[in-house]
Amino acid sequence: MMDVGSALSVAEQHFPLGPEKLAEQLGVRWWRTPLDGAAGWCIPTSSPVIVLNANDPSTRQRFTLAHELAHLVRGTPGLELTRDRDLFTSDAQEEREANELAASLLMPLRWLEAQALQAPIGKLVLNKLAAEANVSVPTLMYRIANCAAELGFSTITVLRFDGEHLKSQFPPVNVSDELAGRLLSGAKSTSNGIFRQPLTDGSVALGTLIENPAFYTTVFVQIVSAQVATLPSADEYLDRCKRYLFQDETRFVQKFGGCLGSFKSKNAEHSMPLEHAVHQFLEQYAGKWHDPEHEVRLRTEMGLAWLRYRLSKWYH
Ligand SMILES: [Zn+2]
Repeated sequence: MMDVGSALSVAEQHFPLGPEKLAEQLGVRWWRTPLDGAAGWCIPTSSPVIVLNANDPSTRQRFTLAHELAHLVRGTPGLELTRDRDLFTSDAQEEREANELAASLLMPLRWLEAQALQAPIGKLVLNKLAAEANVSVPTLMYRIANCAAELGFSTITVLRFDGEHLKSQFPPVNVSDELAGRLLSGAKSTSNGIFRQPLTDGSVALGTLIENPAFYTTVFVQIVSAQVATLPSADEYLDRCKRYLFQDETRFVQKFGGCLGSFKSKNAEHSMPLEHAVHQFLEQYAGKWHDPEHEVRLRTEMGLAWLRYRLSKWYH
Protein backbone atom coordinates (compact mmCIF):
# COMPACT_ATOMS: atom_id res chain seq x y z
CA MET A 1 0.00 0.00 0.00
CA MET A 2 1.11 3.53 -0.76
CA ASP A 3 2.16 5.94 2.01
CA VAL A 4 0.19 9.07 2.83
CA GLY A 5 2.68 11.46 1.19
CA SER A 6 2.62 9.58 -2.11
CA ALA A 7 -1.17 9.38 -2.03
CA LEU A 8 -1.35 13.14 -1.59
CA SER A 9 0.97 13.76 -4.50
CA VAL A 10 -1.08 11.46 -6.76
CA ALA A 11 -4.17 13.49 -5.80
CA GLU A 12 -2.41 16.78 -6.40
CA GLN A 13 -1.14 15.68 -9.78
CA HIS A 14 -4.53 14.51 -10.98
CA PHE A 15 -6.78 17.17 -9.46
CA PRO A 16 -9.80 17.17 -9.61
CA LEU A 17 -9.74 13.39 -10.14
CA GLY A 18 -7.47 12.66 -7.16
CA PRO A 19 -9.50 9.92 -5.44
CA GLU A 20 -10.45 8.21 -8.71
CA LYS A 21 -6.80 8.10 -9.87
CA LEU A 22 -5.61 7.00 -6.47
CA ALA A 23 -8.08 4.10 -6.47
CA GLU A 24 -6.79 3.10 -9.90
CA GLN A 25 -3.16 3.22 -8.81
CA LEU A 26 -3.88 1.26 -5.63
CA GLY A 27 -5.75 -1.40 -7.59
CA VAL A 28 -8.90 -0.72 -5.58
CA ARG A 29 -12.15 -1.75 -7.25
CA TRP A 30 -15.14 0.41 -6.44
CA TRP A 31 -18.73 0.73 -7.53
CA ARG A 32 -22.04 2.25 -6.59
CA THR A 33 -25.09 0.48 -5.30
CA PRO A 34 -28.08 1.63 -3.26
CA LEU A 35 -27.23 1.16 0.44
CA ASP A 36 -29.44 1.53 3.42
CA GLY A 37 -28.06 3.66 6.25
CA ALA A 38 -24.43 3.73 5.14
CA ALA A 39 -22.45 6.08 2.95
CA GLY A 40 -20.09 3.32 1.90
CA TRP A 41 -18.22 0.18 2.73
CA CYS A 42 -14.63 -0.78 2.42
CA ILE A 43 -13.40 -4.36 2.42
CA PRO A 44 -9.67 -4.04 2.98
CA THR A 45 -8.39 -7.35 1.65
CA SER A 46 -5.31 -7.68 -0.55
CA SER A 47 -7.48 -6.55 -3.44
CA PRO A 48 -9.66 -4.00 -1.68
CA VAL A 49 -13.22 -3.24 -2.62
CA ILE A 50 -15.12 -0.03 -1.93
CA VAL A 51 -18.87 0.25 -2.29
CA LEU A 52 -20.54 3.68 -2.45
CA ASN A 53 -24.17 4.47 -1.74
CA ALA A 54 -25.72 5.23 -5.13
CA ASN A 55 -28.53 7.13 -3.38
CA ASP A 56 -26.15 9.82 -2.13
CA PRO A 57 -25.46 12.99 -4.14
CA SER A 58 -22.46 12.48 -6.43
CA THR A 59 -20.27 14.89 -4.47
CA ARG A 60 -21.00 12.94 -1.30
CA GLN A 61 -20.11 9.69 -3.07
CA ARG A 62 -16.75 11.17 -4.03
CA PHE A 63 -16.15 12.16 -0.44
CA THR A 64 -16.98 8.62 0.70
CA LEU A 65 -14.60 7.18 -1.89
CA ALA A 66 -11.84 9.50 -0.67
CA HIS A 67 -12.65 8.63 2.94
CA GLU A 68 -12.45 4.89 2.37
CA LEU A 69 -9.21 5.31 0.40
CA ALA A 70 -7.88 7.35 3.32
CA HIS A 71 -8.56 4.38 5.64
CA LEU A 72 -6.71 2.08 3.26
CA VAL A 73 -3.71 4.38 2.91
CA ARG A 74 -3.58 4.90 6.66
CA GLY A 75 -3.68 1.17 7.20
CA THR A 76 -7.02 1.28 9.00
CA PRO A 77 -9.56 -0.14 9.85
CA GLY A 78 -7.96 -3.57 9.75
CA LEU A 79 -10.26 -6.24 8.55
CA GLU A 80 -13.48 -4.68 9.72
CA LEU A 81 -16.20 -3.63 7.42
CA THR A 82 -16.48 0.13 7.62
CA ARG A 83 -19.90 1.61 7.73
CA ASP A 84 -19.85 5.35 7.79
CA ARG A 85 -23.21 6.68 8.71
CA ASP A 86 -22.26 10.27 8.93
CA LEU A 87 -18.82 11.25 7.86
CA PHE A 88 -19.09 14.81 9.12
CA THR A 89 -20.39 14.24 12.60
CA SER A 90 -18.18 11.40 13.71
CA ASP A 91 -16.45 11.88 17.03
CA ALA A 92 -14.00 9.05 16.61
CA GLN A 93 -10.39 10.12 16.16
CA GLU A 94 -9.71 7.69 13.29
CA GLU A 95 -12.82 8.89 11.46
CA ARG A 96 -11.81 12.51 11.87
CA GLU A 97 -8.34 11.79 10.57
CA ALA A 98 -9.68 9.79 7.65
CA ASN A 99 -11.96 12.74 6.85
CA GLU A 100 -9.08 15.13 6.97
CA LEU A 101 -7.02 13.02 4.60
CA ALA A 102 -10.07 12.55 2.35
CA ALA A 103 -10.52 16.31 2.16
CA SER A 104 -6.84 16.71 1.25
CA LEU A 105 -7.19 14.14 -1.53
CA LEU A 106 -10.21 15.97 -2.95
CA MET A 107 -8.86 19.49 -2.41
CA PRO A 108 -5.06 19.49 -2.32
CA LEU A 109 -3.50 22.30 -0.30
CA ARG A 110 -1.47 23.49 -3.26
CA TRP A 111 -4.63 23.93 -5.32
CA LEU A 112 -6.22 25.97 -2.54
CA GLU A 113 -3.08 28.06 -2.12
CA ALA A 114 -3.06 28.79 -5.84
CA GLN A 115 -6.50 30.40 -5.50
CA ALA A 116 -4.94 33.22 -3.46
CA LEU A 117 -8.16 33.56 -1.47
CA GLN A 118 -8.79 36.86 0.22
CA ALA A 119 -11.27 37.85 2.89
CA PRO A 120 -14.15 38.41 2.69
CA ILE A 121 -14.84 35.11 0.92
CA GLY A 122 -18.43 35.04 -0.33
CA LYS A 123 -20.78 32.51 -1.86
CA LEU A 124 -19.67 33.16 -5.39
CA VAL A 125 -16.12 32.02 -4.69
CA LEU A 126 -17.26 29.08 -2.54
CA ASN A 127 -19.61 27.86 -5.27
CA LYS A 128 -17.02 28.27 -7.99
CA LEU A 129 -14.30 26.39 -6.12
CA ALA A 130 -16.65 23.63 -4.98
CA ALA A 131 -17.69 23.11 -8.60
CA GLU A 132 -14.08 23.07 -9.74
CA ALA A 133 -13.11 20.44 -7.16
CA ASN A 134 -16.40 18.55 -7.69
CA VAL A 135 -17.24 18.59 -3.98
CA SER A 136 -20.16 20.04 -2.03
CA VAL A 137 -19.90 23.59 -0.70
CA PRO A 138 -19.93 22.40 2.95
CA THR A 139 -17.03 20.04 2.21
CA LEU A 140 -15.07 22.92 0.71
CA MET A 141 -15.88 25.19 3.66
CA TYR A 142 -14.61 22.63 6.16
CA ARG A 143 -11.44 22.24 4.14
CA ILE A 144 -10.82 25.99 3.99
CA ALA A 145 -11.55 26.31 7.72
CA ASN A 146 -9.18 23.45 8.46
CA CYS A 147 -6.26 25.00 6.62
CA ALA A 148 -7.08 28.64 7.33
CA ALA A 149 -3.65 29.30 8.82
CA GLU A 150 -1.81 27.89 5.78
CA LEU A 151 -3.98 30.05 3.56
CA GLY A 152 -3.14 33.18 5.51
CA PHE A 153 -6.38 33.66 7.44
CA SER A 154 -6.51 34.27 11.16
CA THR A 155 -9.86 32.68 11.98
CA ILE A 156 -12.35 30.79 9.88
CA THR A 157 -14.88 28.42 11.35
CA VAL A 158 -17.97 26.60 10.12
CA LEU A 159 -21.04 26.71 12.35
CA ARG A 160 -23.52 23.93 11.84
CA PHE A 161 -27.08 24.36 12.98
CA ASP A 162 -29.95 22.05 13.67
CA GLY A 163 -32.85 24.43 13.16
CA GLU A 164 -31.86 27.47 15.24
CA HIS A 165 -29.68 25.46 17.54
CA LEU A 166 -25.89 25.46 17.20
CA LYS A 167 -24.78 21.84 16.81
CA SER A 168 -21.08 22.23 16.17
CA GLN A 169 -18.29 24.59 15.22
CA PHE A 170 -15.28 23.44 13.28
CA PRO A 171 -12.60 24.19 14.13
CA PRO A 172 -13.86 25.23 17.58
CA VAL A 173 -13.10 28.90 18.19
CA ASN A 174 -15.42 29.54 21.12
CA VAL A 175 -18.24 31.20 19.22
CA SER A 176 -20.89 31.59 21.91
CA ASP A 177 -24.43 30.36 21.36
CA GLU A 178 -25.56 33.95 21.43
CA LEU A 179 -23.11 35.10 18.75
CA ALA A 180 -23.91 32.00 16.68
CA GLY A 181 -27.61 32.87 16.86
CA ARG A 182 -26.96 36.44 15.78
CA LEU A 183 -24.78 35.29 12.88
CA LEU A 184 -27.43 32.83 11.76
CA SER A 185 -30.31 35.28 11.78
CA GLY A 186 -28.16 38.06 10.30
CA ALA A 187 -26.86 35.81 7.54
CA LYS A 188 -30.40 34.64 6.80
CA SER A 189 -31.57 38.20 6.24
CA THR A 190 -28.56 39.09 4.06
CA SER A 191 -29.66 37.31 0.95
CA ASN A 192 -26.82 37.86 -1.48
CA GLY A 193 -23.95 38.85 0.69
CA ILE A 194 -22.18 38.69 3.98
CA PHE A 195 -23.56 39.63 7.37
CA ARG A 196 -21.12 41.69 9.45
CA GLN A 197 -21.21 41.50 13.23
CA PRO A 198 -18.80 43.78 15.14
CA LEU A 199 -17.17 42.06 18.13
CA THR A 200 -16.16 43.59 21.44
CA ASP A 201 -12.42 43.38 20.65
CA GLY A 202 -12.82 45.57 17.55
CA SER A 203 -12.73 42.74 15.03
CA VAL A 204 -15.73 41.76 12.94
CA ALA A 205 -17.36 38.35 12.42
CA LEU A 206 -18.53 37.83 8.85
CA GLY A 207 -21.27 35.28 8.35
CA THR A 208 -22.33 33.67 5.07
CA LEU A 209 -25.32 31.36 5.11
CA ILE A 210 -24.96 28.13 3.17
CA GLU A 211 -28.04 26.01 2.87
CA ASN A 212 -27.60 22.57 1.40
CA PRO A 213 -30.66 20.35 1.25
CA ALA A 214 -28.50 17.24 1.56
CA PHE A 215 -26.76 18.62 4.62
CA TYR A 216 -27.48 21.02 7.48
CA THR A 217 -27.78 24.77 7.64
CA THR A 218 -24.28 26.12 8.02
CA VAL A 219 -22.77 29.55 8.44
CA PHE A 220 -19.28 30.14 7.13
CA VAL A 221 -17.66 32.52 9.60
CA GLN A 222 -14.57 34.66 9.01
CA ILE A 223 -13.26 36.83 11.82
CA VAL A 224 -11.39 39.76 10.33
CA SER A 225 -10.14 43.23 11.20
CA ALA A 226 -12.57 46.15 10.99
CA GLN A 227 -10.69 47.37 7.93
CA VAL A 228 -10.97 44.08 6.02
CA ALA A 229 -14.64 43.91 6.99
CA THR A 230 -15.34 47.03 4.92
CA LEU A 231 -14.10 45.34 1.72
CA PRO A 232 -16.73 43.80 -0.53
CA SER A 233 -16.72 40.09 -1.29
CA ALA A 234 -16.71 39.14 -4.98
CA ASP A 235 -20.51 38.72 -4.84
CA GLU A 236 -21.01 42.08 -3.22
CA TYR A 237 -18.73 43.81 -5.71
CA LEU A 238 -20.54 42.23 -8.66
CA ASP A 239 -23.85 43.23 -7.18
CA ARG A 240 -22.63 46.83 -7.04
CA CYS A 241 -21.40 46.58 -10.64
CA LYS A 242 -24.77 45.25 -11.76
CA ARG A 243 -26.69 48.02 -10.02
CA TYR A 244 -24.34 50.64 -11.42
CA LEU A 245 -24.62 49.30 -14.97
CA PHE A 246 -28.39 48.95 -15.09
CA GLN A 247 -29.48 51.74 -12.72
CA ASP A 248 -32.84 50.03 -12.33
CA GLU A 249 -33.64 50.40 -16.03
CA THR A 250 -35.67 47.27 -16.64
CA ARG A 251 -35.65 47.62 -20.40
CA PHE A 252 -31.86 47.83 -20.48
CA VAL A 253 -31.64 44.73 -18.29
CA GLN A 254 -33.83 42.87 -20.77
CA LYS A 255 -32.01 44.15 -23.81
CA PHE A 256 -28.64 43.25 -22.32
CA GLY A 257 -29.89 39.75 -21.47
CA GLY A 258 -31.13 39.36 -25.05
CA CYS A 259 -27.75 40.42 -26.43
CA LEU A 260 -25.96 37.89 -24.22
CA GLY A 261 -28.27 35.14 -25.41
CA SER A 262 -27.79 36.03 -29.04
CA PHE A 263 -24.03 36.36 -28.60
CA LYS A 264 -23.88 32.94 -27.00
CA SER A 265 -25.91 31.23 -29.73
CA LYS A 266 -23.90 32.92 -32.51
CA ASN A 267 -20.63 31.86 -30.91
CA ALA A 268 -21.66 28.46 -29.64
CA GLU A 269 -19.47 26.63 -32.14
CA HIS A 270 -16.05 27.78 -31.14
CA SER A 271 -14.62 28.28 -27.72
CA MET A 272 -12.77 31.53 -27.22
CA PRO A 273 -10.82 33.03 -24.37
CA LEU A 274 -12.91 35.14 -22.01
CA GLU A 275 -11.16 38.42 -22.82
CA HIS A 276 -11.72 37.79 -26.49
CA ALA A 277 -15.41 37.19 -25.85
CA VAL A 278 -15.64 40.46 -23.91
CA HIS A 279 -14.01 42.30 -26.79
CA GLN A 280 -16.27 40.66 -29.37
CA PHE A 281 -19.38 41.41 -27.37
CA LEU A 282 -18.47 45.08 -27.10
CA GLU A 283 -17.78 45.23 -30.85
CA GLN A 284 -21.06 43.59 -31.75
CA TYR A 285 -23.52 45.15 -29.32
CA ALA A 286 -22.20 48.05 -27.24
CA GLY A 287 -22.78 50.75 -29.85
CA LYS A 288 -26.25 49.58 -30.77
CA TRP A 289 -28.24 50.59 -27.74
CA HIS A 290 -30.55 53.61 -27.98
CA ASP A 291 -29.19 55.39 -24.97
CA PRO A 292 -25.47 56.18 -25.43
CA GLU A 293 -25.16 56.25 -21.63
CA HIS A 294 -25.55 52.46 -21.65
CA GLU A 295 -22.41 52.00 -23.68
CA VAL A 296 -20.54 54.51 -21.54
CA ARG A 297 -21.47 52.63 -18.37
CA LEU A 298 -20.69 49.24 -19.89
CA ARG A 299 -17.19 50.39 -20.82
CA THR A 300 -16.32 51.45 -17.27
CA GLU A 301 -14.41 49.12 -14.97
CA MET A 302 -17.58 48.14 -13.14
CA GLY A 303 -19.61 47.63 -16.31
CA LEU A 304 -16.89 45.44 -17.78
CA ALA A 305 -16.65 43.45 -14.53
CA TRP A 306 -20.33 42.58 -14.86
CA LEU A 307 -20.00 41.69 -18.54
CA ARG A 308 -16.94 39.53 -17.81
CA TYR A 309 -18.80 37.76 -15.03
CA ARG A 310 -21.78 36.98 -17.27
CA LEU A 311 -19.60 35.76 -20.13
CA SER A 312 -17.41 33.70 -17.79
CA LYS A 313 -20.21 31.15 -17.59
CA TRP A 314 -19.49 30.17 -21.18
CA TYR A 315 -15.96 31.35 -21.89
CA HIS A 316 -12.80 30.85 -19.84
ZN1 LIG B 1 -14.51 5.70 8.18
